[in-house]
Amino acid sequence: MLPEDQTLITGVLAGQRRALAKAITLIESTRADHRQRAQQVLNALLPQTGNAIRIGISGVPGAGKSTFIEALGVWLIGHGKRLAVLAVDPSSSLSGGSILGDKTRMEILCQKEEAFIRPSPSAGSLGGVAEKTREAMLLCEAAGYDVIIVETVGVGQSETTVAGMVDIFCLLQLPNAGDDLQAIKKGIVEIADLVVINKADIDPRATAVVRAQWKNALHMLRHASPNWAPPVLTVSALQKEGIAEFWENVEKYRTALAASGEFEQKRRHQALAWMWQLIEAGLHQQFKDHPGVQESLSRLSRSVEDGQTTPAAAAHALLAHLKH
Ligand code: GDP
Repeated sequence: MLPEDQTLITGVLAGQRRALAKAITLIESTRADHRQRAQQVLNALLPQTGNAIRIGISGVPGAGKSTFIEALGVWLIGHGKRLAVLAVDPSSSLSGGSILGDKTRMEILCQKEEAFIRPSPSAGSLGGVAEKTREAMLLCEAAGYDVIIVETVGVGQSETTVAGMVDIFCLLQLPNAGDDLQAIKKGIVEIADLVVINKADIDPRATAVVRAQWKNALHMLRHASPNWAPPVLTVSALQKEGIAEFWENVEKYRTALAASGEFEQKRRHQALAWMWQLIEAGLHQQFKDHPGVQESLSRLSRSVEDGQTTPAAAAHALLAHLKH
């Protein structure tokens, strides 16, 4: 291992934010030599990971995610915790502009020693961004952060992806009637461990109605854990109301799932699923990079389009290249 990587490891373990930021930059790099160094650094730090609670927070732009995370973060720091905020924002690679990356967000939290905030990696597919965020999460844990928040917008599959890397997945909703139907349609109600209706200060009555709708919607679905019925909370991030209750529920969730062994089991499943995702992505890349595939792909593709070769026969012939 390079001496500078050893220094990096020591710095991360000492909780130095600069070392942590540098280590994350290393894992975000796509250069092959950096990838290799990053894996060594991660391997060395792995025994020191896993001690944080990992919280996913999702919501449409404007739902109040940054306001809520800031209020929660300040509250947590007041209760002796250190937190890291990471983001999965595939829109940054799709559009070149990021929905979550705005530098002015979480201004108060940014200045706190006990907080570490990192925007979404801006290059790559959702899978690529998610992989970097997972690795960044491990680094933050090695640096001693107690709470890791992974924030995402409801773009494409990002909610499911984030739910697959955290312990508890929270949906931040606006108090608009009918929004629950959107979430049901998108299949994200099933993955919510906690629903938070924000901006309760604007219209408490409307908020109560929406809360009842959500409770109904959740009641009809079976949650992944028999030991947890996802609660619906109302908060005002702006007025900093409902934050303590939110945290109380996070703790309750952790206690309930730890008691049944599901907490640990979920992490084990997630780690294996992550491995398989990487295997699939790696195979895909190997396939596309294979000289034999490159040589015959366009010819076979045309032949399939023209109906002269069946898709199955073409796939079989192309996959056979991987054996050589
Ligand atoms: P994000 O896009 O989900 O990160 O949303 P922001 O946190 O940037 O919030 C969007 C807007 O909603 C901002 O103008 C916030 O001040 C406002 N906002 C956030 N939370 C609340 C709340 O609880 N009550 C009210 N009235 N406004 C809020």
